[in-house]
Amino acid sequence: MRALRALIAVALSGVMALMLSAVLPLLAGAPSHAQSKGTIAKDARLAGDRERTRFIADLSRKVDVHVFALGNPYRVIVDAPDVNFQMPPGIGKERRGLVTAYRYGLFAPGKSRIVIDVSGPFLIDKVFVLEPRDDQPARLVIDLVPTDEQTFLTKLREAKPLAESQATHAPLPQPPERPADAKPIVVLDAGHGGVDPGTSSANGVTEKEVVLQFAKRLKEKLTATGRYEVHLTRDDDTFLPLQERVAFAQKKGAGLFLSIHADYFPITIDKARGATVYTLSEQASDEEARALAAKENFSDVIAGVELPSDSDEVVANILIDLAQRETQNRSVVFARSIVGELATKGTLHTKRLRSAGFRVLKAPDVPSVLLELGFLSNPDDEKQLTSDSWRDRMTDSVTAAIDDYFAKRIARMPY
Ligand SMILES: [Zn+2]
Repeated sequence: MRALRALIAVALSGVMALMLSAVLPLLAGAPSHAQSKGTIAKDARLAGDRERTRFIADLSRKVDVHVFALGNPYRVIVDAPDVNFQMPPGIGKERRGLVTAYRYGLFAPGKSRIVIDVSGPFLIDKVFVLEPRDDQPARLVIDLVPTDEQTFLTKLREAKPLAESQATHAPLPQPPERPADAKPIVVLDAGHGGVDPGTSSANGVTEKEVVLQFAKRLKEKLTATGRYEVHLTRDDDTFLPLQERVAFAQKKGAGLFLSIHADYFPITIDKARGATVYTLSEQASDEEARALAAKENFSDVIAGVELPSDSDEVVANILIDLAQRETQNRSVVFARSIVGELATKGTLHTKRLRSAGFRVLKAPDVPSVLLELGFLSNPDDEKQLTSDSWRDRMTDSVTAAIDDYFAKRIARMPY
C-alpha cells in the first residue's frame, strides 16, 4: 500500500505539474498594476479576412491585458484582471476570417478571460489597447495573421520556457488529519462556470447556472441533516479546470465526490430526457457515454486551459488506475444508490449505469460519480431543470441516495 501511495504521489505530482504549466504562462505575463478594477467590456466584433483578422472589444477604460496563443485546437487567450462583461446576448458565434467563434467570462476570481477559436495555425501580429477618445470607448485590438504549422509551434515553444522548468515538483495535496468520529465529507462539483458555459437550451438557459443552483440546494439539504460536512468546488460563476476539481476533493479528504451536469442531445431533440448516472472507466459502456465524456472533458479546452501532452496523461492514468480499483467499487455502489432513488421517482433517462473516461472523476481515493440531471435540449426537461419544486424533489432523492450509501458503509465497518 505504501508503494502504491508513492506511485500515486508521483502520478499526482505529474498531474499538479500539468495544472501549473497551464497556469504559469498567465502569471508570467500578468500585469502588476490594478488600475483596471471595474472595467466593463460592452461589445466586441470581428473585422478583416483570412489574410488578417482583427478582434476588437469595446471597454469602459484602458486595461492591461495578457494575450497568448494555444494549440490543439488553435486558440487565442486574452487575460485581464476584473473585467465585467456586459456584452450583447448571442455575441461570439460569428465566423470571420481566421476566427470561428469567441467566448468570455470569469476564469478565476478576479481574472477575466476571452477565448478566441482560430481555424488554423496563426500568429498574433499586433495587440494594443487604445485610450478612449471623444465619443469612442477604449478598445482592445488583436490582429491575427495565418502562418504554417511549423512556425506556429516554434512560436508557441518560445513563449513558455518558464512554465516547463517550474512545473516538475508540485506537492501532493494532503487531506487534513481528522478525528475518527468526524462527519463524512461530501464534495459537490457544479460543472463548467465562468468562461465555459457548458451546454445551453434553445432559450439560452446555460448548464453552468442550472448545475450551480442544484449544487447549492443540495448542499443546504445535506448540511441540514447534520450528518455531513459539505463543500462546493465552486459557489459562483467562476471557471475551474477539471484537475483542480479533483485536487480540491482530495485536499478536503472527501468521502464522496459528486459532479453535476446537464446534457444536450441535438439529434433526438425531443426524445432524450431524464437523469443519467455515470462512473469512471477506461472502457466506455457505449458510444453515447464515450461521446459525452469527450464533451465534458472538453471543458478545459473551451476555457483555454492547455491540456497535458498524451504521454504524461497515459502514465498518470495507469498509476491512478491502480489505486482506483477499490475506490471504483464504492463509486458503483453510490451510483446504484442514486439510480435506485431516481428510478422510483421516474426521473431517469436510463436505469443502466453508464461509464466512460471522465477526467473529473479521476481522484484515486475518492468514490466519484457524475450525474447528468437531464437534457437541456428537451423542453420538458428544461422546464424541470429551472423549477424550484423539481429541484427540491431531486435534491431530496440525491440526499436519500447519499444517506443510503454512507449507512451501508458504516454498517460494514469493522469494530
Ligand atoms: Zn457538463
